[in-house]
Amino acid sequence: MRIKLAAAIVMATGASVAAVAPAAPVPGYTLIPGSFAPGRQPDGNTVVIDAPAGLIVVDTGRHPEHREKILAFARARGRPIAAIVNSHWHLDHTGGNRALRAAYPRADLYASRAVEGALTGFLARSRKDAEAFLASGKVRPEQEAEIRGDFATMDDRPALGPTVPVTRSQKRRVAGRMLEVNLARYSATEGDVWLYDAKARAVVAGDLVVAAVPFLDTACAEGWRRALGEIARRPFATLFPGHGAPMSHAQFDRWRAAFDNLLDCSASARADADCKAGWMRDAAAFVQGEDPARIGGLLDYYLKTRLRPAAGRRQYCAA
Ligand SMILES: [Zn+2]
Repeated sequence: MRIKLAAAIVMATGASVAAVAPAAPVPGYTLIPGSFAPGRQPDGNTVVIDAPAGLIVVDTGRHPEHREKILAFARARGRPIAAIVNSHWHLDHTGGNRALRAAYPRADLYASRAVEGALTGFLARSRKDAEAFLASGKVRPEQEAEIRGDFATMDDRPALGPTVPVTRSQKRRVAGRMLEVNLARYSATEGDVWLYDAKARAVVAGDLVVAAVPFLDTACAEGWRRALGEIARRPFATLFPGHGAPMSHAQFDRWRAAFDNLLDCSASARADADCKAGWMRDAAAFVQGEDPARIGGLLDYYLKTRLRPAAGRRQYCAA
């Protein structure tokens, strides 16, 4: 059954890729791709932007090897990291903050203040679960290293907090480069920061776009839908998602349609299996290369906990 499903996805993907032009490279922008290896927590994508005062690093990954790639890139370019932007506080986007700020102490950190509530709420709860898991003795050594790395990230609260809090959307100079720095409230998290660069016609979306499947763990689904509408209004040519390959505007429109269909389906009387199959069909081009069983498992979990029950759907929305 799984083999049949995978084959169907590959075939559907071939057709969609041919129909939609791929994203154009953006001069001055470098993608350091994240990872989503089996049995491991993800690293988000990092986007490095050339700016007059140095490099702007958007998101810092989770694992040590990801942050090493960022530092190696800066060294190879011979330019300092002048600013860090965290699209949101999830640890697969902020785990490298500490090392980068230690290496470049003068770098500004742009982020929303949502991390403050997360440290006493969601992260405190997930830390308790992780501590119980460690105590169970069932943890594999590589999992333990990952968990202890997350604890170290959480323990260094100053490294997670912004030096330049993003409290509203505005055009501003970051490391001397003019960018639209936008705040989407109650979306993938309570405060998601995304960038629009009019000159480069580029959007850096963070986890407002996650190619394979939206990570809804701390999401307000309807707020997220509105944020995607805001992004769609910008005349960008290339969008960098939080996870997955860069998208053209047409590819983003497809992804957004898949997202809307998933929300609409989960608000209807249709069966979970229908909503899941709908995502696998609509987002086939973006699920390519991922394990369909893993994506399906995430969809099951999100449908059960975040999308179907009214309380779950509202849990992370404005009070
Ligand atoms: Zn992420």
